[in-house]
Amino acid sequence: MAVTDPPRPRLQVPLLDLKPQYQALRAEILAVLEKVCASQAFILGPAVRELERRIAEYSRCRHGVGVSSGTDALLVALMALDIGPGDEVITSPYTFFATAGTIARAGARPVFCDIEPGTYNLAPGAVGSFLEQQCESRGGELIHRRTGGRVKALMPVHLYGQVADMTALMALAGRYGLRVIEDAAQAIGADDAEGRRACSFGDIGCLSFFPTKNLGAFGDAGLCVTNDAGLAERIEVLRVHGAKPKYYHASIGGNFRLDELQAAVLNVKLPHLDAWSAARRRNAACYDRGLAAAGLGEAVRTPHADPRARHIYNQYVLRVRDRDRLRQHLADAGVGTEIYYPVPLHLQQCFAYLGHRAGEFPEAERAARETLALPIYPELGERELTYVVDSIAGFYR
Ligand SMILES: *Cc1c(COP(=O)(O)O)cnc(C)c1O
Repeated sequence: MAVTDPPRPRLQVPLLDLKPQYQALRAEILAVLEKVCASQAFILGPAVRELERRIAEYSRCRHGVGVSSGTDALLVALMALDIGPGDEVITSPYTFFATAGTIARAGARPVFCDIEPGTYNLAPGAVGSFLEQQCESRGGELIHRRTGGRVKALMPVHLYGQVADMTALMALAGRYGLRVIEDAAQAIGADDAEGRRACSFGDIGCLSFFPTKNLGAFGDAGLCVTNDAGLAERIEVLRVHGAKPKYYHASIGGNFRLDELQAAVLNVKLPHLDAWSAARRRNAACYDRGLAAAGLGEAVRTPHADPRARHIYNQYVLRVRDRDRLRQHLADAGVGTEIYYPVPLHLQQCFAYLGHRAGEFPEAERAARETLALPIYPELGERELTYVVDSIAGFYR
């Protein structure tokens, strides 16, 4: 080894390691997979129905419909609410691409409003100003003056596992007659300060079981929950190409089915979800304490979370000074991090046709420049967490 080589990291702390969770449940999961294989019933079988019932109950909703991914949950929710060409949906510019991508794929126009700097969630103040100043009621429809589009729905995102300000957003939706689709892909089991659960506020809640979410499948999977029996039925029909009965199509849907094998895995994992989310909260509290004790002042801002609410920390995201150099320093120390999200959606090339400019949503743009996600998965130990804190403190000293 050359004398100039950097010292080897004392510890490796990856952003996420799914292997310990699998090892703990391996025998049980392999047994249910074997059961599905023995039955050779791979499509919409008993495991899907069981998962739908249990996730609906967990999310405090009456109905659940399993779908192929979180993205397809959002898309089919928009389709079920008849949102399409000529319609507009208000959402956040600072989220995973699928939120606005599905609005555009449904044929509608995403309308972005800025976020709160503390929680990174859609700012009710910004939504209220848009509705009040840029829209008007014409013939029973809410029209966006500049585009002439019909503003039909609100799609808040419970980013990183923290419920958006749904009290204020639902009040706006009520006042302006908007439907509400909750993008709860990162927030299964999160509660707001009044103890109300993600997905239980709006018309349809959308969940993702992508492997990195708090409840992760062995591939792609998702679910829609709702309290409206009519909407649940529409989603069920759209999930199988809009067929009802089979081979008769009154509407055009898609193949949005949840795989039986994925549902079987998720049924094994679901009873552990609360303990995993509690472990993420414990890890977050450990970071909060450690970083406060390190006395880094303005250089590092820990996540803003209402102590009365239940944040499930799908991500633990810092706002930091000199973000990109800190990230390199942590990589050299063996600590995995990620930037969620480096380019806000209004500045994505594919949305150039919306005509947005840099500077239009300053909080979203600042978040994209300043934030960094740390490893937060449940199996992390105190030794790893302390090492991450020390590595951050070392960078600023
Ligand atoms: C993960 C995610 C999605 C999409 O879920 P997939 O299952 O990956 O399709 C949508 N919105 C947000 C906010 C997400 O984090």
